[in-house]
Amino acid sequence: MGMLHNAGAELTPQADTADVIVINTCSFIDSAKQESVNTILEMVQHKVANGGQAKRVVVAGCLVERYRDEIIKNIPEVDAVVGTGELNAILSAAGLAPKPDTNSPFKILSESESTLIDRAPSAVKKHSALEVKEVTSRPEGDLREQQGRFSRTEWDGATAALPDYLYDENTPRILSTPRASAYIKIAEGCDHPCGFCIIPQLRGKFRSRRIGSVLAEAESLLKQGVREITLIGQDTTCFGEDLGMKDGLAQLLEALATMEVPGVGKIKWLRFLYAYPNKVTTKLLETIAAHDNISKYLDVPLQHASATTLKRMKRGGHGDIFLKMIEKVRSIVPGIVIRTSFIVGFPGETDAEFEELESFIKAAKIDWLGVFTYSDEEGAAAFNLGEKVPKRTIEARRRRLMRVQQKISAKAREQWIGKTMEVLVEGVSEETDLLWEGRTMLHAPEIDGKVLINDFGDHETLVPGTFYKCEITEAHDYDVVARIIE
Ligand code: SF4
Repeated sequence: MGMLHNAGAELTPQADTADVIVINTCSFIDSAKQESVNTILEMVQHKVANGGQAKRVVVAGCLVERYRDEIIKNIPEVDAVVGTGELNAILSAAGLAPKPDTNSPFKILSESESTLIDRAPSAVKKHSALEVKEVTSRPEGDLREQQGRFSRTEWDGATAALPDYLYDENTPRILSTPRASAYIKIAEGCDHPCGFCIIPQLRGKFRSRRIGSVLAEAESLLKQGVREITLIGQDTTCFGEDLGMKDGLAQLLEALATMEVPGVGKIKWLRFLYAYPNKVTTKLLETIAAHDNISKYLDVPLQHASATTLKRMKRGGHGDIFLKMIEKVRSIVPGIVIRTSFIVGFPGETDAEFEELESFIKAAKIDWLGVFTYSDEEGAAAFNLGEKVPKRTIEARRRRLMRVQQKISAKAREQWIGKTMEVLVEGVSEETDLLWEGRTMLHAPEIDGKVLINDFGDHETLVPGTFYKCEITEAHDYDVVARIIE
C-alpha cells in the first residue's frame, strides 16, 4: 500500500469504484486457499469487460507462491501476479511508474528519512554496530535446505525460486491498523520442519531484520501516534540467529523497551507473538519481567502435548516438558498470561494421545487457547502419512477441548473482578451498540477475549485509541466487563 501510495495511487476499499484491484491472498490451509480463489473470482466481476470499472486485477501473496502458473492459466481476467518476494513489482503490476527520482543519486531526503538517518536515537546506532552482518542463515536452516525442506519441485505451477525479500525501515508503509496500535515484522521465513505446515516452502528460509532497522521503524511509528507495538514473524524467538546473535529477541526487546523518542517518550505497550517452545530462554523471560512496558504475555503455540504425536508432527517435546516450561515462565514473570494453540486430528492421533492432550490442558490452565482442526495440505510432510482421522472425530475432539477450556477461562477471568487495569479503548462493541470495547496489556489485538465497557464514569463519551483506567466489574467465559474510573 505504501509503494502504491508513493507512486501516486489513491487507495480505496471500494472494489466497485477502483481502477486497479489488488487481492492479497493466503495459501496456508485449504479453507484459506478457497477463500482466496472465491475472492479473486468475485473481484474479476468488477472488470470493464464484465461491466465494471476496474482496468486491472492483480493477485498478490502466498497463493501466487503456490499456484503462480495455474492462476495465470485458469483465470485469464487476472492481469498480473506478485509473489511474496517481489513486492517491488506491485507498481508495474498495477500499471504505475515509480516516482522519477527514486533511483537518483541526488535524491533529497524527506523529513522522515533524514530523521531516521541523522537523528536516530543512540539505541539505534548502538545496536546497528552490534550486529554481525556476514552471517545470513541459521545452520538449522542450511541443514533443512539440504534435506529438501524448502523444495517446490513437486508443486505444479510454482516457480523454483524461493522468496528472499525482507522489508526495512525505508520501505513505504501505510498503517491499516487503528492508529494507536501497529505490528512490526521482525523476521521472515521459517526453518522448522513441522510436518503439517507449508509456510517454509511459501515464505523461504528464516531471515532477520537488523535491530537498527526495527528501532528506526518503531521510532517512525511512535511519531505517527502509535503507542502499542506487536512484533511478529513466523518464529520471533529465532530472531538474530542468522546474524550470529545470541538471545537476539531479548536484545531487541530491551532496545525497544528503553528507546526514548524525543517529544513522544517510550513505547507504551510492547509484545511479541509466536514463540517456539524450546526457544523460550531464561534471558528472554528476564527481559519481559524487567520492563513495565513489555506486556506480561507469552504466545507459544504448542500444537500438541503427546510425545508420539509431536514426534510425528516433527516438532518434538511433550506435555511434561511443556508443564515445566510454563512453571518456569510463571515463576520468572509473575502474573504473565499465556496463549497457545493446538491441532487436533493429526494423522494417527489415537484416543489415548488425544486424552493426553486433554489432561495437559486441564493441568496447564492456559489463559488464552485456540484449537484448530488438522487440514491435510498437499506438499506438507503429513499429507503422505496414513491413518487420517475422520472429519467427524476431529470436530468432536475440537469441541471437547473447547468445553474444557471454557471452564478454565471462566475461572481465570473471575479472578480479574475488582482489579484496576489500563484499557486501550477500541470503539463501540462489534456485538452491540450499547457497549464499548477495548483491550488490556494482557490481550493481543484481535485474537484474545475483550474488555466490554458499560460505564464511562465521569466521561460523556470515550475516544477510540486512548488509554483509560478501568475497574473490572463482571466476568464471562472469555470476556470481562469494566467501568472507566480515570
Ligand atoms: S514453526 Fe510455525 S511457520 Fe514454522 S514450520 Fe512450524 S508451524 Fe510452520
